[in-house]
Amino acid sequence: MRYNQVSWTTIMPAWRRRMLVQQSTFRKKWEESFMRLMAKFPAIIKSKPTNLVVVCFDSGLHYGNEGLIREILGLKQGLYVFLSIGGSVTPMAHPKDTPSRCKGVARQILLACDRYPSITDIAVVMHSDCGFYVTVPKHLHSHEKEKRDLQMAGSHLMEILPGKKIRLFYQEITDDGESVAIYETDCPKIRESIPRRHLFERHRC
Ligand SMILES: [Zn+2]
Repeated sequence: MRYNQVSWTTIMPAWRRRMLVQQSTFRKKWEESFMRLMAKFPAIIKSKPTNLVVVCFDSGLHYGNEGLIREILGLKQGLYVFLSIGGSVTPMAHPKDTPSRCKGVARQILLACDRYPSITDIAVVMHSDCGFYVTVPKHLHSHEKEKRDLQMAGSHLMEILPGKKIRLFYQEITDDGESVAIYETDCPKIRESIPRRHLFERHRC
């Protein structure tokens, strides 16, 4: 038998052949499980969003968020980036007390603005009785804390994104939990020293 007639698998050790069979079986099973469901929907090619909408992930506010985006801001699909975070921008109102969470939220917002330079307007939304407050230090709790924090966070956002138009919205759950009323509030300039090294770090994807 000439050397070039010998199959490469016959000169392979038995343990190596078993391993290759096991690997290919595993890969086949994984591919089958990965592709268990396939569905297609329209994609928006080269979308150029003009707005960033930052909300709390509270599932009770889905209709409120939908109404804000469609009816108040008048945005269609593909024209906005929707950023849903537990507590929305609350940590940005307390950069000294919750520095790592503040940095995390600020980075997400900066990342969206870096990824989509077409974004000119940012809508920031907070709501009444936000469950996020169970995770923040007790001394940050106060009457109508969400309203105060919304303006404070908006002021800090204006500092890190001076070229953007920032609008603040407050969602109030009314009618014994049956409706969500949406109010727009001013974004005052609040002068307070913040750990700028946290807020100005930019990350790109
Ligand atoms: Zn919330």
